[in-house]
Amino acid sequence: MRHAEIRIVGQGLAGTLLAWACESAGIRFQIIDPGHDSAASRVGAGIINPITGQRLVKSWRVDELLGPAEAMYRAVQHELGVPVIRRMRVLRVLRTAREREIFAAKRESGELAPYVQSLPGRDDAFVVAPAFHVDLPRLIHASRERWRQRGMLIERVATAAELAGDAIPAVACLGAGEVSLGRVGLERVKGELLHLEPLAGPSAEVPAAERDEIRNDGHWLLPLPDGAWAVGATYDRTATGLEPSLAAGELLRESARRLSQGGEPRVRAALAGWRTSARDLRPVAGWLPGQARAGVCNGLGSKGALLGPWLAQQWVGHLREARPFDPAVATGRPSPQL
Ligand SMILES: Cc1cc2nc3c(=O)[nH]c(=O)nc-3n(C[C@H](O)[C@H](O)[C@H](O)COP(=O)(O)OP(=O)(O)OC[C@H]3O[C@@H](n4cnc5c(N)ncnc54)[C@H](O)[C@@H]3O)c2cc1C
Repeated sequence: MRHAEIRIVGQGLAGTLLAWACESAGIRFQIIDPGHDSAASRVGAGIINPITGQRLVKSWRVDELLGPAEAMYRAVQHELGVPVIRRMRVLRVLRTAREREIFAAKRESGELAPYVQSLPGRDDAFVVAPAFHVDLPRLIHASRERWRQRGMLIERVATAAELAGDAIPAVACLGAGEVSLGRVGLERVKGELLHLEPLAGPSAEVPAAERDEIRNDGHWLLPLPDGAWAVGATYDRTATGLEPSLAAGELLRESARRLSQGGEPRVRAALAGWRTSARDLRPVAGWLPGQARAGVCNGLGSKGALLGPWLAQQWVGHLREARPFDPAVATGRPSPQL
């Protein structure tokens, strides 16, 4: 291995994208990760949906971040030679009168442009486009294989000295494995989803065009490339362990029935992971306060696929050109302290 300029610790989505950004900027790196057993990125659905939540809010900075994110995934896909990103649309179903009012008001004001299209004759649903599905497990596994073959991957847990930046400055991309989430103002939130066999029932014959459609009514139903489906996702701030729960399983099966209009879900796998979020819901990038050789790249929350490419570029801009981190995500900002 040629002498590395930076050590990336953790090869989930954050570490993987940082490594790709370093690779294209010509920054020599090494990457340490024991495997993805605990990674949110082996579970996360990888949906990029510009309009989210019951209040139908535009994702933070989506106008600025979406194009560069898509371009980065397409460039990585090209290098890896495996499909990583798919362009999709979201059929957003409005279940309550309140949601329909919010949509009508926001459509009128134009604040959801350019992502929403009304459906003729329908006030109970609209289309969000473009949206994307990033295949996070495939991205991290294929990238890992590349760096393994090139001798850039160290397959074990990093030592405390390595994380402190002993011989080489280190950026911790540890997700919920962050040594002390509190020191960087993060908390963890459990999320669960189900992978389902191809659905039986009235919607069993899904036209090919609809394989590009994510249905969302608060929960989402995502067609996976192999004909299966994923349904998710739950949020649980109080959970202490990652085992899938019966309550979440039942809730998600019910959502799958509703979203597939009667399809009977057969569960292939129940998956759970930790999201990491700051209180202000912004990610975190920068050196730890008072330390010039130990940095962090974390807090992607439930929008890792959209935010990850930009956060990686924040780091590369800093490493290459000493650019300051965007104050909204910099370590030590006042808001994320828990
Ligand atoms: C159920 C669920 C659904 C989701 N759906 C979406 C979605 O639709 N769209 C979206 O954008 N996001 C979604 N997310 C969020 C997304 O998955 C995360 O934002 C993203 O995967 C976080 O990546 P990360 O690299 O920060 O953390 P992780 O993926 O957790 O990676 C951390 C890595 O660090 C390694 N590590 C930890 N400690 C050490 C150590 N000491 N030494 C070496 N390595 C270490 C681990 O092995 C792991 O590989 C979802 C998450 C969940 C749980």
